[in-house]
Amino acid sequence: MSNQELMDEIVSEVRVCRKCRLWQYARNPVPGEGNLEASLMLIGEAPGYREDLAGRPFVGNAGKLLDRLISGINLRREEVYISNIVKHRPPKNREPKTDEVEACTAYLDRQIQVIRPRVIATLGKHSTKYILSKVNIEVRGLTAVRGLAYKEKLLGLPVTVIPTFHPAAVLYNLAYRSGLEEDFQKIRKELEKKT
Ligand code: SF4
Repeated sequence: MSNQELMDEIVSEVRVCRKCRLWQYARNPVPGEGNLEASLMLIGEAPGYREDLAGRPFVGNAGKLLDRLISGINLRREEVYISNIVKHRPPKNREPKTDEVEACTAYLDRQIQVIRPRVIATLGKHSTKYILSKVNIEVRGLTAVRGLAYKEKLLGLPVTVIPTFHPAAVLYNLAYRSGLEEDFQKIRKELEKKT
């Protein structure tokens, strides 16, 4: 199967998924979008209000900020792949529950295996905890790990994981803004390294 066919299969499964309760509250699934050949994959937490309406990840104010961060490292949104650890919006934007993350992340794992990114940026505590747990790194708090570059074998693939803040958190706490921008420059440097 081609990468496009594999991704289409994942998206089709997400559209009819009932593996956790979240589909009941959502208008649309938000499977993820972007370039299947992307070197950079950005992984957030869960769709919000606008993402749920649009069926696309990061389209609200946090998405606009993310677009600026992506262009700040000389990439276009179409050149990266953007996804979340859960694909349906939790009611009232609450945090995803442990059983919901457990139910949903098999889709994300398959997306990573299709895209095979060189760098994964985890946006926020939940996606950082999930991705680093897969390489046996326990995350107690995001501030202890953000901006670090973890060179790991994830799902059998060599990848550098760089945790950073979720753009939505920065909208509410401007003190995080410079940290998020700094971390994106680290992502740029990592992407510029020769393989
Ligand atoms: S959030 Fe994930 S596991 Fe839950 S219903 Fe949606 S696609 Fe399925």
